[in-house]
Amino acid sequence: MSYLGSHLSSARGYLAMGRTALAMGADTFAFFLRNPRGGAARAVAPEDILALRALLEEHRFGPLVAHAPYTLNPCGKDPRVLAFARSALAEDLARMELMPGQLYNLHPGSHVGQGPDAGVRGVAATLDVVLHEPMRTTVLLETMSGKGSEVGGTFEELRAVIDRTALGDRLGVCLDTCHVWDAGYDIAGDLDGVLEAFDRALGLSRLRAVHLNDSQYPRGSHKDRHALLGRGCIGPDALLAVACHPRLRHLPFILETPTDDAGHAAEIQWLRERMPV
Ligand code: FE
Ligand code: FE
Ligand code: ZN
Repeated sequence: MSYLGSHLSSARGYLAMGRTALAMGADTFAFFLRNPRGGAARAVAPEDILALRALLEEHRFGPLVAHAPYTLNPCGKDPRVLAFARSALAEDLARMELMPGQLYNLHPGSHVGQGPDAGVRGVAATLDVVLHEPMRTTVLLETMSGKGSEVGGTFEELRAVIDRTALGDRLGVCLDTCHVWDAGYDIAGDLDGVLEAFDRALGLSRLRAVHLNDSQYPRGSHKDRHALLGRGCIGPDALLAVACHPRLRHLPFILETPTDDAGHAAEIQWLRERMPV
């Protein structure tokens, strides 16, 4: 049985996120450790994190999938952009170690005119600064739609980042269904073929989480506009096939659809009613 959840606000604290997730019928969730648009990390009491850990264990949650701020560009050219990316990542990852064994998802960033190769080298250089041993958090690179100068619009590009990172063996990947669709991968018509391509480029064992979103645009549009489950161009059957796929069923599935907690709870219920136990 897959773990299902959505993005929750950390504004009311960590235990509060766990309780909200439970009330929604979720058994995983995603969250930002700071304002998603950047800025300082929200203060959090260690007791709050310990209380959340107890709740996760008691209710047998799957791995949580924390998310780095959207504005952070790990392969930025401007020294200030790069310095913020590295200090925010280092701070976030230090806090993640207070809740061992969770996942931390990162957009590889945008090369903004430096070219894809320089982008790949830049992401790896930032990862070399912030990854360390021993680390009990798994950092995930998210598959991107290839919008603008985004790095990570192909599985091969993510592989190149991993290969160039000293601790690359420790990195995982988070597959975003809207992003891969927008990048051109036909997860609706040929899911097995896409998973085979993923396996060839990255190894399926690297796939540690899924962002389950429909897309407002046709395949290959490079737009990155999420839609409610079944209300976009990927469609309900294809998304359900992803969530039920035997090679994926053990993973945490995070909804990033454009709705609120009540809407996500309804989507979780919709999925659970149709997924094999
Ligand atoms: Fe993301
Ligand atoms: Fe995503
Ligand atoms: Zn997106």
